[in-house]
Amino acid sequence: MRTDSKNKPTGQTWQAVALTLFPEMFPGSLGQSLAGQALQKAKWALQTVDIRGFAQDKHRTVDDSPCGGGAGMVMRADVLDLAIQDTQHSTGGLPLVYMTPRGRPLTQSRVKELAEGPGVAVLCGRYEGVDQRVLEAHNVEEISIGDYVLSGGEVAALVLFDACVRLLPGVMGSNASGDEESFEGGLLEYPLYTRPVEWQGRTVPDVLRSGHHGNIRAWRREQAEAITRERRPDLWKAYEDKRAAKNDKN
Ligand code: SAM
Repeated sequence: MRTDSKNKPTGQTWQAVALTLFPEMFPGSLGQSLAGQALQKAKWALQTVDIRGFAQDKHRTVDDSPCGGGAGMVMRADVLDLAIQDTQHSTGGLPLVYMTPRGRPLTQSRVKELAEGPGVAVLCGRYEGVDQRVLEAHNVEEISIGDYVLSGGEVAALVLFDACVRLLPGVMGSNASGDEESFEGGLLEYPLYTRPVEWQGRTVPDVLRSGHHGNIRAWRREQAEAITRERRPDLWKAYEDKRAAKNDKN
């Protein structure tokens, strides 16, 4: 069998599909905690497609040496094409993504868009990557999870699935917790505290114990702004530009 459905999609269930040489790497961490419970309850569905099942020769070859020379191996376009066609046929045509360090950086807004759609099919690279022609032929979106190189795309696919799944209705414990997280409103999250109020000589800031909701909101915004300005000048600039544009309008 070429595909293994851990939880067959029904109706509008959000579908995560991983095209991979290592199907056993799924669901991995997504079999645990809230995502795992949601998978059990069929709030989302996960399917793995074993790329090797689409190899055409008796050795089940999926890769070859790079044209033009160089180190490593490249995943073959003909094998990947068959795997992609089969997946698109059986899933009804999901957005197709290739995880790669040279892709556009993954953002919370792209995650939201994908979570609002029918799901996502993710091509997990191995070796040096995949033949360019198959990416062009299927108009594949290329996404990176950061400026570092992993040994394969499976962990990156799990990152993308995780970020999407937690936004699906009924998956997170409290929907409200999503509204004030990092990136919502363009800022990183403010510092969090819980009991005990005193711990190793460190005290929870007075304002958070004041019960004054206006002051708490203002303090959290100040903190979020300071952290964003210090750690992420790129986000801070976008935030300031947006604020300036809003002021110009009013
Ligand atoms: N030769 C590639 C390059 O220089 O960009 C790196 C290949 S890497 C060893 C093998 C696979 O891991 C890639 O095809 C990709 O699927 C995945 N991968 C590695 N780093 C990644 C990242 N930062 N984001 C997303 N996928 C990544």
